[in-house]
Order: sequence, then structure tokens, then C-alpha cells
Amino acid sequence: MRLKVLGAYGASDAEHNLTGYLIDDWMAVDAGTLTSKLSFAQQGRIQGVFITHPHADHIRDLPHLILNRFSQNTGPLTIFAAREVMDLLLRDVFNGTVWPDFSGINSTLTGKPAVHYRALVPGKRIMFNDIALTPVPVDHAIPAAGVIIEMNGQAIVFTGDTGPTQEIWKRTNKTQNVVAVVTEASFPNDQQALADETAHLTPNTFGDELKKIVADAPVYASHRKIPYERDIESQIRNLRDRRARVLLEKNYTL
Ligand SMILES: [Zn+2]
Ligand SMILES: [Zn+2]
Repeated sequence: MRLKVLGAYGASDAEHNLTGYLIDDWMAVDAGTLTSKLSFAQQGRIQGVFITHPHADHIRDLPHLILNRFSQNTGPLTIFAAREVMDLLLRDVFNGTVWPDFSGINSTLTGKPAVHYRALVPGKRIMFNDIALTPVPVDHAIPAAGVIIEMNGQAIVFTGDTGPTQEIWKRTNKTQNVVAVVTEASFPNDQQALADETAHLTPNTFGDELKKIVADAPVYASHRKIPYERDIESQIRNLRDRRARVLLEKNYTL
């Protein structure tokens, strides 16, 4: 599978982008960066977006993706999230104040809504086109779930933002042919207290999580905070585990 990393940071400036991933050009995970790095035509090819949690750095481009789809003559966009996460998105974002609820408005081009919401039961694997999605809760400051995506005999795991966690690693270890894991290391080791308080990882706790994963696959640290990106990179390298990598904003072939 092809993984296009549109945003690999937990903060943004002219050279660093918020969390957003695209798999094989049509399935996205998180929407911090989607519209801002994809052409109108590329946006039209996205069929599904899985949202890990409603923090602004993971949904910034989602309202704009939905609006653009409304003016494109393409198939519908399905927004996936674990049930509790979807409830928050509908209550706090697509509430008619921050943004309209486009699921109830027919596009003049297609005569149908441009977006559907699909709330998922945590831990339950579902099929979407020919891929499988399994949302698995993680431990963050608000309700949050990562996702295991199985496609063409390969699996990739995204935790989204999380502190130390268990369930998603148990599911990962039961999944066949995991080719990559994308998790996080937001703060450097000397900010462990802040990381713990905000339910994030440092390279130290990333290293502890790594020990819970049996797959011999690259495990990427995403969501670095900008001022500490070099420190985090060298601390990840110092873990001396060949699976441990920092995630870069580029295209990966897995
Ligand atoms: Zn975040
Ligand atoms: Zn978050």
C-alpha cells in the first residue's frame, strides 16, 4: 500500500503540517492536513476519512473537505469515527454554528448529500469497499480511537494521539501482516510530566510502547511538537531499536 503523509506534526507553521494521512489516494486518516495539501481533483478521489478524535489539529481541514465535496460531482464521502468521537464531532463541530451539518443537505450536482457519517463500535471490524477498518480505543485526554486498516493482505495501524495504552497493541498483535505502525512522540524526554498530564508519549514512553508490539515492522513516531523535533528525533534514534523511526512528510511504499 501507499501511505502519503500530508502532515506529521502536532503543530503547524509554513514547513510543518498537522496530522493527516492518505492511503492509496482514497482512504484518509485524520484531517488536520488534507485540503491544504491536495488538489481539488485529489480531494474528489477520497472516499473515506477516519477521525481519531476531535482535537483541532486532527480535524482542521475536515469542514473544508466536506464543503469542496459538496461542489463536486463525485461519490459521497464517508466520515468514520468511533461512536463517542462521532458524538463529539456532531455536537461540537457540525452543529450548525461552527459548520453546517452537510449530511442533511442535498448537493445540487448529485441530488444527494455529499457526506455520510458512520459511527463505529469500538473493537468491531467493518468492511468499507474492499478494506477492513477496526477502531480501537486509545488513552488520550478526550475520547479517542486509533484504527487498524487491512488492505490487499497488508495491515497498517494508526493510534492517533495517545499516552501509554494497551488495547490497540493487543489487536495489533492479533493482526496478520502488519507492515507499519504510526503512533506518536509529541514531547522530548525532559517534558515527560507534561506528556503524562496531556496523555501523549515521549521517546521514553514510545520505547515502552514499542516493547508491547511483536510485529517486525517500522513503528513511526508522528505528532512531534515543532520546537523539539530534532531532540525527539535523536532520542528516538537512541532507543536503538531498528523498528523505531520518526515519521516524515513524504510518500511511503509499504
Ligand atoms: Zn494532536
Ligand atoms: Zn489530541
